Amino acid sequence: MNQAVEYIFVAMLFTNIMLCFVFVVAWVSISKKPYVLIWAIAFAVATINILINAMKGLFPSNEVYWIIVNLSSLIVQALSLSGFRQRSILSMAPSWLLIYIAFILCILSYFTVLSPHFGIRVSLIPYSAVLMCFGCIYAILHTKRRLRLAEVSCIGIYCIFAVLQFSTGTAALLQGVDRVDAYQEVYQQINFLAMPASYVGLGLFAVLILTDDLSAKMRFLANSDPLTAMLNRRGVEEKFNKHFTASEHNVRGVYIILADIDHFKKINDRYGHHTGDVVLMCMASLLTQNLRGSDFAGRLGGEEFIIVLHADNMHAAKDFTERIRKTIEQREILAAEHSIKLTMSFGIVEYNETHKRIFDAVNDADKLLYKAKNTGRNRVEVMDE
Ligand code: GH3
Ligand code: MG
Ligand code: MG
Repeated sequence: MNQAVEYIFVAMLFTNIMLCFVFVVAWVSISKKPYVLIWAIAFAVATINILINAMKGLFPSNEVYWIIVNLSSLIVQALSLSGFRQRSILSMAPSWLLIYIAFILCILSYFTVLSPHFGIRVSLIPYSAVLMCFGCIYAILHTKRRLRLAEVSCIGIYCIFAVLQFSTGTAALLQGVDRVDAYQEVYQQINFLAMPASYVGLGLFAVLILTDDLSAKMRFLANSDPLTAMLNRRGVEEKFNKHFTASEHNVRGVYIILADIDHFKKINDRYGHHTGDVVLMCMASLLTQNLRGSDFAGRLGGEEFIIVLHADNMHAAKDFTERIRKTIEQREILAAEHSIKLTMSFGIVEYNETHKRIFDAVNDADKLLYKAKNTGRNRVEVMDE
């Protein structure tokens, strides 16, 4: 058994070194997010923790060894949690976390030095790990968006890890003041058989979370317009395909509103390109702030915008657009000390069965927009019934 335990320690030592290395490399070359570095440090401390275990004989007393090895375990737990908290934009090291570590350490010292109690001494760290698992799960859940699959699976592995830690802690606690061989056997079996696999699991899932965050960021960048932060052409198409299934069309009409700033070139020529950019940002926020529910807007390029609107009929869609047109007409945009007035032209079509994809409807709306431009601008043109 002892040799088997040594093998397990060596395997866990190398696993932790590799995971630490993976997160250091990820931090240097993939993502400079603080949580990546925090997790790298967590795996470094976990490596030290295993080395301390291996060097038990070098400590002046068993008590000193116990306190130091458990302190390093608490630091690993706190760092893992801090990483998840930083990732979820929660406070990274709240004061209660430091108080908590000090508190556990005091209890540990008491039952190690002053009033030795085997069960409590050995069970404290696994029970603390259960609390930390819940802390990590809370941090993962602390998001306003829908959870992604990688996050859900990470919550799953943390639940399994918490159950294992709870079983280990209980097998230790049941031993009472002094070690009881039967329970110690159970404790060691859970600890040494299941723990290595779940540690590797935690590391792999941390890597999965990191890559998932990166892919979400790439998707966001690919789908959004850097100037206005609105959806770009690609983003509009993706969102439309995701949300507007055929069944939804039947409930309420979906209207494609194409909007183009009138004589925008003149604004650029007169006030400069930078002021033109500010005007585009103002228009973007004006168009989006009027939207409700699953309606959304995007910038198709240049000074051309799209709104995807749910409405009962074309009349309602036109009313909505007329309100926006009038708001824009009356608004004075303050940009770089200039007060700028402008107008916009609009074309609206209902998305229907003749459209295979959203841009078929956009092409139809573009024809109406062209008509609005040719008939005086600052107008809303709709598809004839
Ligand atoms: P119309 O009323 O017919 O739409 O006239 P217009 O001047 O708005 O249209 P036109 O297509 O002639 O000019 C569009 C201008 O938009 C030309 C281009 O320099 C400018 N533009 C396109 N993208 C940007 C941008 O990102 N920032 C700025 N400042 N200008 C842009
Ligand atoms: Mg224009
Ligand atoms: Mg244009």
